[in-house]
Amino acid sequence: MLSCCSSVKNQTSNGTGKLDTQLLKDVEVLSSDAYQGRKTGTKGAEMTRAYIIERFQKLGLKSYPQHVNYAQEFTFNSKNGNAAGTNIIGYIPGKGTNVIVVSAHYDHLGIVKDEVFNGADDNASGIAGLLKIAAYFAKNKPNNTIIFAAFDAEEMGLQGAKAFVANPPTPINTIVIDLNMDMIGHSDKAELYVCGTFRYPDLKKYVVNTNSNIKVLFGHDDPKLGRDDWTNQSDQGAFHAKNIPFLYFGVEDHKDYHKATDEYSTITKEFFSNAANVILGVVKNIDKQTGLQQSLKDKMIMKN
Ligand SMILES: [Zn+2]
Repeated sequence: MLSCCSSVKNQTSNGTGKLDTQLLKDVEVLSSDAYQGRKTGTKGAEMTRAYIIERFQKLGLKSYPQHVNYAQEFTFNSKNGNAAGTNIIGYIPGKGTNVIVVSAHYDHLGIVKDEVFNGADDNASGIAGLLKIAAYFAKNKPNNTIIFAAFDAEEMGLQGAKAFVANPPTPINTIVIDLNMDMIGHSDKAELYVCGTFRYPDLKKYVVNTNSNIKVLFGHDDPKLGRDDWTNQSDQGAFHAKNIPFLYFGVEDHKDYHKATDEYSTITKEFFSNAANVILGVVKNIDKQTGLQQSLKDKMIMKN
């Protein structure tokens, strides 16, 4: 299986093993029992939105006029009929028209048979990563406009991301890439996957790892892998369906995946801190480019 995957060349090592306090705090709060597993349409999901909105406000993220207080509401067909969800969308304006979307889903599975499925890794970790990246660019203004999209109803079939690309706050052709995080906080092997470079090999150069305490691997993006091709298994799939380039960051399924034990105590804290730093580095490298759209779309390799 691992023959599918190649490793990012480690540059000189300066791994520190330092933990990121705010990152961990965000996960600890959002995966606490008070949030009831953050299932779409529940009180827990509403509390999660309130938490993200407060963080967005404190960071000074802007809200699009069509989204009242960052909220993009949508409806979708679920197996129980019509359902409603709410994405939380903030942005930091850049200098040109190009837009980078940084995304993560905030919903999870809720309470199953009286047990809270806290979803610490899936995907409180991705939301915490998103907030970390937002905090960086709130202080260091980006070249490109960056939209921070906290999606709802991913667990019900990428519904929030589908609603976003169907009705984006900026013309769809201005979105040059989606950088999606889903499960970046739990790897006993300290392995983070970057998925998407099979179709977009040009994106490999933006992925740089200088920390010997984490392995960054390319893979899980070749359609020949079937179920092990993760392209459509999280929100990046909705962007891919619109031919928008993407990178997805995540770990392989672990023993606590979609279990009640996916809770704060099983987050691998040093790995998580390192992973979030690697991802922030990728976003920074991509944001350094202007004229991204040209370079990505011209070199896009469609191997569907
Ligand atoms: Zn997930």
